[in-house]
Amino acid sequence: MILVVAEHQDGKLKPVTNELLTFAQRAGRDLDLPVSVAVIAGKSDEIVASLKTAKVARILTIDQAADSFSAELTAHALKVLIEQAKPRLVVASHSTNGMDFMPRVAVAVRCPLVAGCVDYEKHGDRLVLTRQVFNARMNMKTLPNSGGSILATFLPGAFAADDLERGGSPEVVSYPVDFGNIADRRRVVARQEAPKSAVDLTSAPVIVAAGRGLKQKENLAIVAELAEVLGGVVGASRPVVDAEWMPREYQVGSSGQTVAPKLYIAIGISGAIQHLVGMQNSRCIVAINKDAEAPIFKVAHYGIVDDLFKVVPALTRLLKDLKGVSS
Ligand SMILES: Cc1cc2nc3c(=O)[nH]c(=O)nc-3n(C[C@H](O)[C@H](O)[C@H](O)COP(=O)(O)OP(=O)(O)OC[C@H]3O[C@@H](n4cnc5c(N)ncnc54)[C@H](O)[C@@H]3O)c2cc1C
Repeated sequence: MILVVAEHQDGKLKPVTNELLTFAQRAGRDLDLPVSVAVIAGKSDEIVASLKTAKVARILTIDQAADSFSAELTAHALKVLIEQAKPRLVVASHSTNGMDFMPRVAVAVRCPLVAGCVDYEKHGDRLVLTRQVFNARMNMKTLPNSGGSILATFLPGAFAADDLERGGSPEVVSYPVDFGNIADRRRVVARQEAPKSAVDLTSAPVIVAAGRGLKQKENLAIVAELAEVLGGVVGASRPVVDAEWMPREYQVGSSGQTVAPKLYIAIGISGAIQHLVGMQNSRCIVAINKDAEAPIFKVAHYGIVDDLFKVVPALTRLLKDLKGVSS
């Protein structure tokens, strides 16, 4: 069994769970293993309802008997589950929560944890997990060795939530766990949301990203116009943000956001590894760059080798014509 740990907040499923499920469905097919989801929560009704159509074998609900997330209780529940159900692979998000409870679980069950994975490949009847190291300058492939379970956390955006296979009718099983006198050593007393940014790149289906090739801030207007006609949002490479042409929350990459939209158009972006790791899992990547050797073309599905100042306005005009929008 591959066990996915559902990520949730305030009784609602977080979208990253669907990304983990996409991975688990693929790996499950490769290894011929069923996929189950563990919902460890105080209130699980709404979370279970959101998972009900996913093509998975079982939803295991564990009443954690605490309203807010607790790393100690989650780790204990997973320890019990792993010892009894013996999953081959346990996956969670590389989120603040996942990074909190997964190392505890690994220590408790004495199994290897591969943290911050972005990809995998099949190696016989085992999985090689890819994680980024040295500020995402290099990828490290790990073939974990374990007589028991293998634990892994995946970076948000590593797999596309949209690729989740639906049409299942998983069995919902309540899994009793005795929390005994496990002391909840920490309690969440308040949670302060970061100020909402003007744009949520992680959930945008279309991102049109600007790079240093735009030369100056004023030229970003052509990128914004293309994004608008496509119903998308603008993104940026780091130099664009460092030059203060755009605010920090628009940055895509290892020190910015990790995104996996349906369409990612990279304009005047060379494709440095730190940028690629933030967008290479996009469903369709279009690169516009005058340098045919630019590394961005290695991940692009479609490429236009030409001057962006010629191509972008022409593309926008064409799309406007197709949509019957006047310029
Ligand atoms: C620790 C660390 C973290 C980093 N994190 C990030 C990150 O999160 N995100 C990120 O993006 N970068 C990050 N970087 C920076 C990264 O290494 C690159 O420097 C950066 O991505 C380059 O941005 P760029 O592609 O816009 O610029 P450049 O590399 O300068 O590329 C500009 C491109 O525009 C093309 N171009 C120029 N003029 C035209 C034209 N008229 N028409 C068509 N094409 C044209 C050029 O051919 C070139 O390929 C990080 C670096 C470090 C060290």
